[in-house]
Amino acid sequence: MSHNDLPLKYQLTPVINAAGSFTPLGVSRSSTQVAQSAALAMGSFFIMEELQQLASRRLASWAGCQAGAVTHCTSAAITQAVAACIAGTDESAVAALPDAGERKHLVVIPEGHCVNYGHPIETDIRLAGGRALKAGDQSSLPLPDLERALDAPGVCCLLLVCSRLTSFHDLDLAVAVSAARARGIPAVIDGAAQDLRVQALLATGADAVLVSGQKYLASPTAGLVLGTQSFVEAFRAQERGIGRAMKASKEAIVGVLAALEEREGRDDTAWNLEQQRKVDLLLELLRSCPGIQARAEIDPTCMPFQRVRLALAGGAPAARELVHRFKAGRPSIWVMEHGLAEGILRFELVGLHESEVRHLAHELTAALGEPSQH
Ligand SMILES: *Cc1c(COP(=O)(O)O)cnc(C)c1O
Repeated sequence: MSHNDLPLKYQLTPVINAAGSFTPLGVSRSSTQVAQSAALAMGSFFIMEELQQLASRRLASWAGCQAGAVTHCTSAAITQAVAACIAGTDESAVAALPDAGERKHLVVIPEGHCVNYGHPIETDIRLAGGRALKAGDQSSLPLPDLERALDAPGVCCLLLVCSRLTSFHDLDLAVAVSAARARGIPAVIDGAAQDLRVQALLATGADAVLVSGQKYLASPTAGLVLGTQSFVEAFRAQERGIGRAMKASKEAIVGVLAALEEREGRDDTAWNLEQQRKVDLLLELLRSCPGIQARAEIDPTCMPFQRVRLALAGGAPAARELVHRFKAGRPSIWVMEHGLAEGILRFELVGLHESEVRHLAHELTAALGEPSQH
């Protein structure tokens, strides 16, 4: 059975995903090697502690930190990280969560970092027994405002988000981390889709960086915590508390190990060129397409690939109609919709094969070439 046979067997909608590492579409495509490793794990027993210890060593050597661990996903990792900051390794505190009792449980987070990736990040904080203390506003966070928040009584950690979803991108994460650490407050960075930039995020001095295995690393669904030995220890202490509901499966941990091996053996220059080639191809195929302006666009967090940005002459109504028509097609085509109100569509091509890029160009040209389109 091949990949294409599953939608057929279960009568599911075949999908072309130009929306990026998007959870409602199954996030990413794992390689055959990663999939086979996960499949082999499913037929075996393990001493799960050995798997976690091995993952810790492999994650640490890949990211350049002291230790690592695997949990269910990054959403779970945020909850477990906040819980770790509240309870540490105190057994009774771990058992009591999400009831934080008298323990410090305020999580300082920039207001512009209060992202929603399917639910608000504050939900992950509350699940641990924490409460968000927002600093700054949607457009900025001046350092004195951050320092004032960190000085409030009851603060247990600083939570920062590095993502294209944040409402501003010019906060110096290293400066924010230093402000927390100078006060003895641990700093955690949610870098869920930032596995290509983990070293840069760890260089901020954060106690822990949280990453999704299933995004660009393309492992089975997994949340990776990368950080100091003591942070990872407190994080893992939660496995005997609220983390039980968030555990990593054996196939996820083995899949992460395989994905790390693949990543470490990868020629990054060749990979970057391959991404650029797909972007150039789509732009070339759309060159004479009427009613649009197409160009390449860099990622706001400086991920090492570009996306294609399409401005429709028909503005928001035309963009909405196109998105609707694309989703209703077979295969169903999904694009990034965050610029819809301005008549802008964006295409991420990382997860696409060349034949899918060509199909995309063909469908776009057909849709925009029709006189019925406004
Ligand atoms: C995807 C994402 C998450 C959630 O990650 P999961 O592994 O899907 O739980 C959290 N934060 C950000 C910024 C994300 O992009």
